[in-house]
Amino acid sequence: MAWDIQKKIYKKIKKYKYIVIARHTGPDPDAIASQIALRDSIKLTFPEKKVIAVGAGVSKFKKFGLLDKSEFTNLSDTLLIITDVPTKERVDGIEELKYSEIIKIDHHPCEKKVADLEWVDDTASSACQLIAELILNTNLKLDQNIASNLFLGIVSDSDRFLIAYTTVKTFKIITRLIEESQIDFVSLYDKLYERPINEIKFHGYISENLEFTDNGLAYIKITPEILKNYGVDTATPSNMINDFNYIKDVLVWTFITFDEKNEIFKINIRSRGPIINEIAMKYNGGGHKFASGARTPKETDIPNLIKDLDEACKIYKENILVQVD
Ligand code: AMP
Repeated sequence: MAWDIQKKIYKKIKKYKYIVIARHTGPDPDAIASQIALRDSIKLTFPEKKVIAVGAGVSKFKKFGLLDKSEFTNLSDTLLIITDVPTKERVDGIEELKYSEIIKIDHHPCEKKVADLEWVDDTASSACQLIAELILNTNLKLDQNIASNLFLGIVSDSDRFLIAYTTVKTFKIITRLIEESQIDFVSLYDKLYERPINEIKFHGYISENLEFTDNGLAYIKITPEILKNYGVDTATPSNMINDFNYIKDVLVWTFITFDEKNEIFKINIRSRGPIINEIAMKYNGGGHKFASGARTPKETDIPNLIKDLDEACKIYKENILVQVD
């Protein structure tokens, strides 16, 4: 099944001379690494093709490679590939342009079809796992740089293989990536985990100021003043949310950060039990069952969101107790 769709994707890539690769807004390492690795693999395999990876750049992710300027004017003969994003509304840098065909490669659960050809596998740890599978199973080429990006995307999105979407397949793909490219994977971790001291201090602020409910919710509201005091930006809390896993008695944790520039609350939610993406969807969000996000301009949404998450923890705990009885 997956092999069939991979073959179809490869054929489309082979057919088009112009290819644009995009991913979601507010990218994380998996989104960036998946688009850059796919671009570089297509360019390596088919040097005559014009392939670009688009979207707003993030300076701390320059380590994965540089993005390109959107430069195609005639899109009627252009293939668009979107990775790590379920809906067209969240794709960064493609505007409302008409592409000849669209391919989606993603691991977010989504019932709506948005592309001509879709490979959606919500059992995959990451978009990079899917791109690695595509490259390893077709004639697309791999080099050390491409393998490094894929490795880091998988490690990052699976949170170092801690998240339940990590499967035997994830490890098999990682093994093949390392064997076939001979990357020195330990030396790559600096790219993901090295942080400036002010971020460590901000981490300490979050630890000190998290609030806990009796039902197992941990939450914190982060104001623009706090961000300024620590010299961090609105993307920083998103990069730290996974660090707060495994707190005893905490089932769900959320960071609610006010983005002054865009006048919007950026919400990160993680869970180790209750399903949270359905709650995130109520607040203009979505994501995975246990890793979701939302964006809302309405301050009145915040107490409601906290209440919903707390209630989900309560119901989850009650169900667990029933099962134990
Ligand atoms: P984050 O907390 O930003 O790392 O996001 C966790 C997951 O939720 C990722 O898979 C995101 O793609 C998804 N997500 C975040 N924000 C939104 C949103 N506003 N709408 C839909 N999905 C989102």
